[in-house]
Amino acid sequence: MGTQRLEQKDAYLTSCQARVVQIREESKQLALDESVFYPESGGQLGDLGHLVFQDGSVQVFDTQIEEGVVWHKLDQLPTWIENKKTCRAEIDWAHRRDQMSQHTAQHMLSAGVFQLFGGETVSARLGSQSSTIDLDLTQLNDPMLADLQASINQEVMNDRNIHIHYPSQQELAKFELRRESKVKDGIRLIDIEGYDVTPCGGTHCSETGEVGPVILTATQNTKGLVRLSFVAGKRAFEYLASRDKWLRESAQKLGCAVHEVCDAIERQEQKLSQLQQELGLHQAQALMKDVEETYHSPHRDVLLMRPDYDQDQARKFVNLLHERTAELVVVVCSKQPQRFVMHGGTSDLRQWLKQQGTAIGWRGGGKANHVEGVVQGSFSQSEIIKALRSLD
Ligand SMILES: [Zn+2]
Repeated sequence: MGTQRLEQKDAYLTSCQARVVQIREESKQLALDESVFYPESGGQLGDLGHLVFQDGSVQVFDTQIEEGVVWHKLDQLPTWIENKKTCRAEIDWAHRRDQMSQHTAQHMLSAGVFQLFGGETVSARLGSQSSTIDLDLTQLNDPMLADLQASINQEVMNDRNIHIHYPSQQELAKFELRRESKVKDGIRLIDIEGYDVTPCGGTHCSETGEVGPVILTATQNTKGLVRLSFVAGKRAFEYLASRDKWLRESAQKLGCAVHEVCDAIERQEQKLSQLQQELGLHQAQALMKDVEETYHSPHRDVLLMRPDYDQDQARKFVNLLHERTAELVVVVCSKQPQRFVMHGGTSDLRQWLKQQGTAIGWRGGGKANHVEGVVQGSFSQSEIIKALRSLD
């Protein structure tokens, strides 16, 4: 025989007296003749709570349903629990109340998306942190999100009554359902007065005002659907409070008022871009100066130790200098790790790198007339010169 499910008639019942009717010893699960615990289904999590017996109390960490029987999953199964014993089944009301807010918000969002954009809800999941709805829409852009959020919160403020109906087949025809029922018998309708009617077996608030604020937090395109994330009720307050904290901290760091954060970031970006341009100009001038000075030295081949150059600057340097007839240009640049750039000459630099280069800890690759890489180990300038002598 199935469990008498009291939460189906009244989601605000927090406890009931019940009798143990079945025990699964191995998996520590217990069935009662009647229960206020909601079993996981339809995207809503199962209830948490306690079963209080005369001999002690056991914790329920999950609730599931199988063939009409509600199974309370226990943290422990003491030997004194046996069939026909009575207990007080008490749900974790804070957890349930939170689920009721998220679930009712989900109904309202599904209705809002349908009414505003014609999109249907494919599936929904109410998580312990955030909840999601998968919608058959091609997009849900920022203006659409703003409209949807405003519309839903207006319905929260309208404080519409929410009714539960168990209509006969004849009565069912009078309701305009947003979607068809998946079951044929014992259809349960959730009727948000004047707004939305849909079949559902979950637990809901009795007025839309009890849902609390609804905040849309993210969207993601996935498998041809749009996944919308949201928070409602107390979670929405917490979400907004943490966002407010981040914003105030950002404003403090930028030295401006909260509403000036965007302008302040834009000014910083402009300043940074200007400084980067100036730096680039200085680097190019310094590079040209280096090239001129090196070009006027009596040697055709050049080895330069420039720890202040990064690899990109070293590459520009060797190219510029090589254009001015220097034969082979080698630059050892940057720090931790040191890097090298070699260009020019008549030998195949890749062959040299494989043999003599490896001997002084240079690892890298490139073309016959240009190689680059990382310096592993520490070799003196004279050791490097010695290795380079084998080149033509
Ligand atoms: Zn529902």
